[in-house]
Amino acid sequence: MAHCWICRRHSEHPVEELLKPLLADLKRRRAVEDCPRPCEELHSRSNVIWARFYRLDCGHYCANHVDHRCCGCRTEPDSESSTPQAHAT
Ligand SMILES: [Zn+2]
Ligand SMILES: [Zn+2]
Ligand SMILES: [Zn+2]
Repeated sequence: MAHCWICRRHSEHPVEELLKPLLADLKRRRAVEDCPRPCEELHSRSNVIWARFYRLDCGHYCANHVDHRCCGCRTEPDSESSTPQAHAT
């Protein structure tokens, strides 16, 4: 399964590092329409980049709102109840 640009970077860089400039320039932040979970839709725009992404129920950021979980959590079958484990590098 293909991961989005946010989840794909996850293993190389901390995702917070990638999103830091985006989060600093947030233009809009709102609950996702028709979503019963606490997912949020985030819009960011600076002079160099425009992005729309989500903060999902799993606690991660993702470019897609699918099943309320990010690409990484969706590909891991039993990550729903257990805490996500950091990959040792
Ligand atoms: Zn993703
Ligand atoms: Zn949702
Ligand atoms: Zn996740």
